[in-house]
Amino acid sequence: MIDTHTHVTSCRDDSAEVLARARAAGVTRVITIGSSLAEMPTAAALARDHADVFTTAGIHPHAADTWSPATEAVVRHHATLPRCVAIGETGLDWFRMHAPREAQVRAFRGQLELARDLSLPAVIHCRDADDDCFAILRDEAPATVVLHCFAATRHLDEAIERGWYCSFAGNLTYPSATTLQDAARRVPDHLVLAETDAPYLAPVPHRGRPNEPAYVMHTLLYLASLRGCDPNELATQIDENARVAFNLR
Ligand SMILES: [Zn+2]
Repeated sequence: MIDTHTHVTSCRDDSAEVLARARAAGVTRVITIGSSLAEMPTAAALARDHADVFTTAGIHPHAADTWSPATEAVVRHHATLPRCVAIGETGLDWFRMHAPREAQVRAFRGQLELARDLSLPAVIHCRDADDDCFAILRDEAPATVVLHCFAATRHLDEAIERGWYCSFAGNLTYPSATTLQDAARRVPDHLVLAETDAPYLAPVPHRGRPNEPAYVMHTLLYLASLRGCDPNELATQIDENARVAFNLR
């Protein structure tokens, strides 16, 4: 089972311990996100040192005001390292608004262009900004799009139609998440992914405590129960989807 979106280097405990616990739980691969000027080099180093770790390169919407030609050059450098499998996470976050709207849009467009240019998938962070996110993606998305911590339930049909991957995080397991759970039942087998987004959004029964990649197994079990399928088969399906989406070797 793969954790397709995690921030190992932002977890409280030492990365080697976090990875060891993930392996013990049955997590065979992780994609650790590099989405700031600080996180990209630490994530890249982890991927270089561990055969089961891949990484990404990008600037999170929270840090979008750091986007500049110099930053783009740094992202491009990290994106072309051998263990980097995607651009991102990038997108729009109108909920937290840590960066001004115009800065978020500029950084998002710039990274989609980079993803197209480098033929890499784009990992999308979209929070309270579904309409604006989809409007930009419609015209500017690269060939492969992963909707990380999927929540754009009103746009599910369009996401499916366009063949965009829907990656479910620990918030799927929260009792109030009924709309999201309905969406998770409807995503076709070939577009479903699962992730932790650790250290955030720990699934039940770890809700409210720091998350880590090992806990993707809880989200997997929950997703399998929603979809009425065998967890092992779903894990195999998600692994295969991740292999195709991120061109993992
Ligand atoms: Zn993330």
